[in-house]
Amino acid sequence: MGKVLQIGAGGVGTVVAHKMAGQPDVFTEITLASRTKSKCDAVAQAIGGNRIKTAQVDADSVPELVELINEVKPDLVVNVALPYQDLPIMDACLETGVSYLDTANYEPKDEAKFEYKWQWAYHERFRQAGLTAILGCGFDPGVTSVYTAYAAKHHFDEIHYLDIVDCNAGDHHHPFATNFNPEINIREVTQKGRYWENGQWVTTEPHEIHKALNYPEIGPKESYLIYHEELESLVKNYPSIKRARFWMTFGQEYLTHLRVIQNIGMARIDPIIYNGVEIVPIQFLKAVLPNPGELGSNYQGWTSIGCRIRGVKDGRERTYYVYNNCSHEAAFKETGTQAVSYTTGVPASIGAEMFMKGLWKKPGVYNVENFDPDPFMKRLNEQGLPWVEKFDVDLEL
Ligand code: NDP
Repeated sequence: MGKVLQIGAGGVGTVVAHKMAGQPDVFTEITLASRTKSKCDAVAQAIGGNRIKTAQVDADSVPELVELINEVKPDLVVNVALPYQDLPIMDACLETGVSYLDTANYEPKDEAKFEYKWQWAYHERFRQAGLTAILGCGFDPGVTSVYTAYAAKHHFDEIHYLDIVDCNAGDHHHPFATNFNPEINIREVTQKGRYWENGQWVTTEPHEIHKALNYPEIGPKESYLIYHEELESLVKNYPSIKRARFWMTFGQEYLTHLRVIQNIGMARIDPIIYNGVEIVPIQFLKAVLPNPGELGSNYQGWTSIGCRIRGVKDGRERTYYVYNNCSHEAAFKETGTQAVSYTTGVPASIGAEMFMKGLWKKPGVYNVENFDPDPFMKRLNEQGLPWVEKFDVDLEL
């Protein structure tokens, strides 16, 4: 059906490449490019079958990207590099006339702040060029946004309360490790909490609000209110929402390490001079922490991510809980990565498939909830992330 250029060969990229390579009728040609070509070659070799071509690119450089895109001539660029590269890749897509998909919204390198405004500002240019940009197509954002769209389409006339709950109950047997890129992860979880209530954002101290929530097949886990990017687009797209929050589980060990990392200055994102060399502490920290893409070999347990929703259908209040549980071991067996990379990479590959099949294609820049959730939900069940629905249950929130 079409050619794809994937940028980024980390944990998430490994899964996306696996899943796309398994569908030769949809992805007729796949080129995998990243800053370090040897990582692309390793992924291509593990997949085998000469399915994947590889290339080197610095995705911070628009001219380099334009040259590569003109050479490959893809129908779609799948961006699973880092959020810093979103805007240069979108610029290069506009310059070459190619559509775009990513899993995380843009963040400037010098400020730990993520917002959709930078990418939404590209809407008119993508629309006029007849190109599609699909934003936030991982698990959260991504599947959680599609779950909400599915709930709004099939189960509610109005959604009033939305709580996204993200539990990782797995054990990787390291004293401290992050499950995706450490720099992005630590920037995300150390910032202030934020949630939507009665038409405005409420800000909290980091991890100030927390409570134990019960996760299916897992049991109770302390869950912390943090800010997460899909809240921004969901409250805009579903104005009936009175309150929207995001909860993530953290263990005590993880939080203690995080506090120490912050207290000793290792989470700093501003450059410092060490022995005459400029280094950014959080980037140095990334270099000494376990590589998230390699945690999988000794990772046991489950992730459980879902949406707990309260609203109204046919004049009656109802509750709804939709979730997926994903096993770290099963993810590793299939793709050689742990469940956090797996639960992000599978939806990205499904989003790319939706585009290739013409099901998610409209000129402009859109979040995933702006598309029809039904074909995507069907593919989640078939591609390794089956979901479970529960109606009129106690949401605990
Ligand atoms: P990794 O750090 O494992 O991989 C990032 C990849 O991007 C690496 O291959 C890296 O190359 C490459 N890269 C970085 N900078 C550049 C550059 N300037 N030019 C070209 N390539 C570059 O990250 P993950 O795989 O864990 O995460 C990938 C993305 O997925 C991130 O944006 C993350 O925020 C997002 N994510 C989204 C989630 C969701 O549910 N929506 C959940 C988890 C992650 P190199 O090897 O040379 O460093």
